[in-house]
Amino acid sequence: MRLSQFFLPLIKENPSEAQIVSHRLMLRAGMVRQLTAGIYNWLPLGLMVLRNIENIIREEMNKSGAIEVLMPTLQPTELWKESGRYDALGKEMLRFPDRAERELLYSPTCEEVITDIVRTNFKSYRDAGKNLYQIQWKFRDEIRPRFGVMRGREFLMKDSYSFDIDYEGAKKTYNLMYDTYLRMFSRMGLTAVPVRADSGAIGGDLSHEFHVVADTGESALYYDVAFDDIRDGKVKMTTEEMRQLYAAADEQHKPGTIPKERLREARGIEVGHIFYLGKKYSSAMNATVPGTNGENITLDMGCYGVGVSRLVGAIIEASHDDNGIIWPESVAPFKVGIINLRVGDAKCDEMCGKLYEMLQSKNVSVLYDDTNERAGGKFASMDLIGLPWQVTIGPKGAEKGMVELKNRRTGEKVEVSVEMALDNLLNNKVIYDKRFLTAT
Ligand code: ATP
Ligand code: MG
Repeated sequence: MRLSQFFLPLIKENPSEAQIVSHRLMLRAGMVRQLTAGIYNWLPLGLMVLRNIENIIREEMNKSGAIEVLMPTLQPTELWKESGRYDALGKEMLRFPDRAERELLYSPTCEEVITDIVRTNFKSYRDAGKNLYQIQWKFRDEIRPRFGVMRGREFLMKDSYSFDIDYEGAKKTYNLMYDTYLRMFSRMGLTAVPVRADSGAIGGDLSHEFHVVADTGESALYYDVAFDDIRDGKVKMTTEEMRQLYAAADEQHKPGTIPKERLREARGIEVGHIFYLGKKYSSAMNATVPGTNGENITLDMGCYGVGVSRLVGAIIEASHDDNGIIWPESVAPFKVGIINLRVGDAKCDEMCGKLYEMLQSKNVSVLYDDTNERAGGKFASMDLIGLPWQVTIGPKGAEKGMVELKNRRTGEKVEVSVEMALDNLLNNKVIYDKRFLTAT
């Protein structure tokens, strides 16, 4: 993409409406704009990141054997009367009549609709053992929408619902989701701490929230120091070992469970939640299948949510510096930014153009700053939007076939030949490869 043709409305000053860094940076980097309280327009750069996150979630869900569906954003309220939840969500649930005066609601969650799908379409026990998911917009009329996309009213969620024959099956699915969540968050460059959470009326210990540690988080976390060590790369652990570690949120915390010196307290952003539902919805809504002997089996359910749009903010909270966002490569809107320091200079234009074409032909996503802005402004913008790699080409370097390659995260810069830069970007070499060091 050429910046001159792109739609990237950057903001230089700090917007006064933003209280936390991710919200500030998302506005400044032209990713989102608020339409009205808690409801956002996604501009191209923000949408690219949202889609990348979505794709990682989709890949990991598919790998786990879950199957994608898509349910509407609007639902009839009848199903909620059947499940007994019609009043449970109070004003968070947005309801309105259609022209025939039938009451609809904008989906805040989909247990009722998915249970309805299953009860009418599962024919026998052989259909059970399925985990159905979707990535779809939700609406909750939050009392206090805030922090940008972190707590919106309209937000994108991955929600899945599993239907098993018995508790053993449901527990297996639950554990599979636990592993899947750790993998998907880690692919986004995040270490999420799975904390034991309230399992409400269902009871039992099958409820975990996944939190990204950040000072701006809304929950208090208490966890074993090993989670920090995993994040900092000091230890490696299997998910089975992680499951044994202590971690709890807010009122779930029981002081004295682990030695003081192992206990860490921090704030966390909830990016996912897995929950064993038991037969709450299947028995209220009659989701049963005939078993091997024709007996009626009420399906055993679980639900598993991920805050897709919230993740965009959470990743920024976890990965930024004073100059802007630092995208993990897996979710970056573009992998590379090319800065042409003198647009109109034949050599610069030619070298930038060539590099741009080459990267594109190899399917490396690249944003080429071909505008007439001053050098200082170009550097600041590129740092702000946080692409993992920057290639700067100016008249002096262009004369010798040299470019400056910068790693956004470490800030390291090296002057290398354009071929070496290309090799580095195509083959994912690290910037401090020996050849680069000797080249500087
Ligand atoms: P919270 O305690 O933050 O309100 P919740 O318990 O209501 O979350 P769930 O019903 O479990 O959330 O929804 C699944 C996921 O959707 C959450 O883990 C969170 O990441 C995300 N989510 C929930 N509410 C919002 C919101 N208002 N804006 C953005 N994301 C949200
Ligand atoms: Mg909530």
